[in-house]
Amino acid sequence: MKNYDIDIYKMNRLPNYYNRNNYEINRLNQKRKTKKSNLTGYFVFIIMLLMLSIGAIGLTIFVLGSDQKAPLLQSRTYASVEKMQVKLSEDDQMGVGGAYLPESKTTPLSTLDYYIKRGDSIHSIARRFGIDEATIIKLNDIKIPSKIVRGQKILIPNQNGIQEEVTRRNSLDQIAKKYDMDKEELMRVNNLVSERDADKIFIPGMKYDGVSKQLLLGEYFTRPIRGGRFTSMFGYRVDPFTKKKSCHTGVDIAHRMGTKVYAAAPGKVIFAGTGNDYGNFIRIQHTSGYVSYYAHLSKINVKKGDWVSTGTYIGQVGSTGRSTGPHLHYEIRKDNVRINPMTVTVW
Ligand SMILES: [Zn+2]
Repeated sequence: MKNYDIDIYKMNRLPNYYNRNNYEINRLNQKRKTKKSNLTGYFVFIIMLLMLSIGAIGLTIFVLGSDQKAPLLQSRTYASVEKMQVKLSEDDQMGVGGAYLPESKTTPLSTLDYYIKRGDSIHSIARRFGIDEATIIKLNDIKIPSKIVRGQKILIPNQNGIQEEVTRRNSLDQIAKKYDMDKEELMRVNNLVSERDADKIFIPGMKYDGVSKQLLLGEYFTRPIRGGRFTSMFGYRVDPFTKKKSCHTGVDIAHRMGTKVYAAAPGKVIFAGTGNDYGNFIRIQHTSGYVSYYAHLSKINVKKGDWVSTGTYIGQVGSTGRSTGPHLHYEIRKDNVRINPMTVTVW
């Protein structure tokens, strides 16, 4: 560059050496000055750029951070917490650190899906998971515990407890009072946000009494007769009289005339006499709305008002009423609805 400049200068102008030299020096000086000021300019420019970008980043952080991101984060957190927590009283506000109160006594109810495998029974499943059989039966609304099917899905709760239906006559308040529990606590355990969502309620830590457990397990009633032969089961069959399909209301066990008949469960005799179709028959009132019938008897050994226990001798097999031969007609009603006796009776 420098040489080229000088060359041009040499060609175009013809100053003396001194002038030339002088000129050269001036020019170089000027060039240096320009360079210097240019460099300073660059520096100022870069610093300004830096400051600007820092400012921009700061502003971005400020705008996103304080004005947009924070409220979004907040509302989302509040929404999920609100979903999970139940109403807390003023005194409990200090405890809000998560979804649940840290001082609560019981774990919320949760369940595990379990598929029935070959060889499983409610008893074996209950033992494997350490959960009460009755709790599992009631939670899954299993009608006949002995007849669970392979592949059938059941829920295994994470804790023992009993379940109650919530109705107008059996409200959440009444249930809470009955079990001496806090309603809010009951709702929390049942993961209920609103009281209106409750149709069934799980009461943790409670156990079914002996009778309820027997009823749930289908072991409350025991066979009312020893031996014999089933000639008709519960449900639809061809009526031996009309030859038309009709519903058989109980089970028939054919046996010798005069064979002893026993009470299937403890209860009170509410009828002992003669009816048209049933012939001589006995009706016994049991707990929880259950009533048992023993029909076509040849002899009745109890009277109305008597209290009987399981296995009490109540009468003898006959063929009275609508019958084609000596047999016992054994029937069970629950809340006046006929049910299959075999689902509740240990035979
Ligand atoms: Zn019958």
